[in-house]
Amino acid sequence: MARLKLATVWLGGCSGCHMSFLDLDEWLIDLAAQVDLVYSPFADVKEYPQGVDVVLVEGAIANEDHLQMIQTVRERSQILVSFGDCAVTGNVTALRNPLGSAEPVLQRCYIEAADIHGTIPHEPGIVPPLLDQVQPVHTVVPVDIYLPGCPPSATRIQTVLEALLRGEKPQLEGREFIKFG
Ligand code: SF4
Repeated sequence: MARLKLATVWLGGCSGCHMSFLDLDEWLIDLAAQVDLVYSPFADVKEYPQGVDVVLVEGAIANEDHLQMIQTVRERSQILVSFGDCAVTGNVTALRNPLGSAEPVLQRCYIEAADIHGTIPHEPGIVPPLLDQVQPVHTVVPVDIYLPGCPPSATRIQTVLEALLRGEKPQLEGREFIKFG
């Protein structure tokens, strides 16, 4: 049987969801026997490959690079899992949305809070411009499975991956599996 091609992607999130993935501990060894990790912050792969079976997407869409990346991810992946509350709702990453745009945050961080010579970073092609409004993943591209939690527990992640490895759609029910936060 062909090994499942698994990817994980880190967009506008704190990496806590990926840390929770590492909390799978020894089950990672079982997982490694069944999948090829073809793209991830854990792997040194520069370009998102074609033909991904399952991708876990951590984080919301917060800048122009994220917008471009999520389109590529969607085009090249069969099953897209919205991985963690920032991906599912915007969560912490979207806290700046009521301010109306990214400008007040940039002013606060890089000008008002600067010790000396405050400057807002501006390097076209290197520093991606922030979007005015942070968006959860499903508002930009279709999502197949929602995996909530901040972060989702390792048990929740394992339950989803085990179902996908069996070729089934994960059934997340009850407080243990669909609680936010
Ligand atoms: S859902 Fe929580 S743990 Fe995951 S990226 Fe967002 S803030 Fe971090």
